[in-house]
Amino acid sequence: MRAACQGFPLSPGRPRFLSAPLYLWALPVTIVGLAVAGIARLSGARASLDGGTLEIVGGHLPRVLSPDSRSSRLCAIALGHVVLFATEDDRRSARAHERVHVRQCERWGVLFPFAYLAASAIAFLRGRDAYRGNAFEREAFDLAPLGHEEARQGNVGGTQEGGRL
Ligand SMILES: [Zn+2]
Repeated sequence: MRAACQGFPLSPGRPRFLSAPLYLWALPVTIVGLAVAGIARLSGARASLDGGTLEIVGGHLPRVLSPDSRSSRLCAIALGHVVLFATEDDRRSARAHERVHVRQCERWGVLFPFAYLAASAIAFLRGRDAYRGNAFEREAFDLAPLGHEEARQGNVGGTQEGGRL
């Protein structure tokens, strides 16, 4: 599709008025995201709206998302219609991937955090990596691998680089 994610649609082809129920369904998770976003803003993080999603970047988020730089690095996390990115580079490389998680939250609503954790537990019990083997992550990586600025189709998960959560 297009090169940049400016205005990346949450649900391509769906009339905007049909999105309202999805926002309501995801609202409990979004409220958690807004609370975290507010705290991040106090630390100097920047906020912007893109494609119906509030994006928060910078401030203390790099230290909060990846307190131990020697281990794997969590570069972004989606909480409903709020996506937190550690850095601008992370926003560029993980935006499309995180939008898949936003759409997943629209489908699962308040159940999404529990479904996400259950998917990690199932992956672990099957001998897979709890992050990369998670069904929600597999979908997100299939549709929007990290480093790609857009997904092939138009969906609380996180994105990490370089290993395990
Ligand atoms: Zn992810």
